[in-house]
Amino acid sequence: MSSTDPKTLLPASIADRVASLSVKEGRAIAVVDAGGMGTKERGEIEGAITEILSAKEGISDVRVVMTAERKQRRIIAVGSGKGGVGKSTLTANLAIALQKAGRKVGLVDADIYGPSQPVILGNQGQKPVARDEKLVPVESAVGIPVLSMGHLVEPGRALAWRGPMAGNALSQLIDAHWDDVDTLLVDLPPGTGDVQLTMLQRFKPMGAVLVSTPQDLALIDAARAGQLFDQAGVPVIGLVENMAGYACPHCGEVSDPFGKGGVETAAGRLELPFLGRIPLDLAIRQGSDAGKPPAAGDDALARPFLDIAAKVDAWIGAQS
Ligand code: ADP
Repeated sequence: MSSTDPKTLLPASIADRVASLSVKEGRAIAVVDAGGMGTKERGEIEGAITEILSAKEGISDVRVVMTAERKQRRIIAVGSGKGGVGKSTLTANLAIALQKAGRKVGLVDADIYGPSQPVILGNQGQKPVARDEKLVPVESAVGIPVLSMGHLVEPGRALAWRGPMAGNALSQLIDAHWDDVDTLLVDLPPGTGDVQLTMLQRFKPMGAVLVSTPQDLALIDAARAGQLFDQAGVPVIGLVENMAGYACPHCGEVSDPFGKGGVETAAGRLELPFLGRIPLDLAIRQGSDAGKPPAAGDDALARPFLDIAAKVDAWIGAQS
């Protein structure tokens, strides 16, 4: 046997998914970490490994073992075209609402521009520990385990990260001790940068939810983000309109500071499902700042989040 890692026989995109590869007496055994992979992807990766290795000199038999004992964990990405549209707020509330619907949910806060989940979920200041060189997610008051870019680096520092660093940080957050979590929500940075690319290449999400305010500019960017998922073969579960319709706390008059219905119209144009509308409400911001996301309660403020989560839940159910 040569001393080089047999994984170098495979292209990097495939080697990334291979936990171990050994070649002995003409027989190659590849162990693939199939966590998060659908049946189709498992078939494709098995086919690709068999084809590539069979063509190598000295290999006459190829066995691909999928690590079945590892639970399938689906990843749902939450993205937006630009920052400040309420992506983190939606992700946290969606996580809570999906948990209420019976799923075991974990949350990865991958927003290098402003990791805010520790504040929203009320576990600021808590640091994850590492076990066997993997991070152990931090518990939050609302019962959602979370790992955040903010846990890895001082606030603001992650901004300077480029490609591999951002990608490796994301890998640490996703490839952690999520134990019995079956649905991992990933709060992506806005736009279509390095973290998104790593997300798509290394941890192909099952689907993506996109959030936008009704303004035209935000919508154009959201459509661009949607295109990236689409090209990578990640289905867009649907679009969410945030900060729609403001009810004046004094006179009750409802106005539409960012326009109205724009996201639903755009969803129709892009032939994507429209998942729902969240009003612009001071109580949503106050709840988020206080570590008490509205979906955790049972008043009217929780309703839009629960309704959107019900659609995402049904979509997930329809995939399996
Ligand atoms: P993003 O993740 O897209 O950057 P955030 O979720 O951090 O956006 O939201 C930006 C700010 O807007 C936060 O202060 C948040 O509390 C507030 N916010 C988000 N959605 C709403 C809403 N529907 N009503 C009121 N404030 C909101």
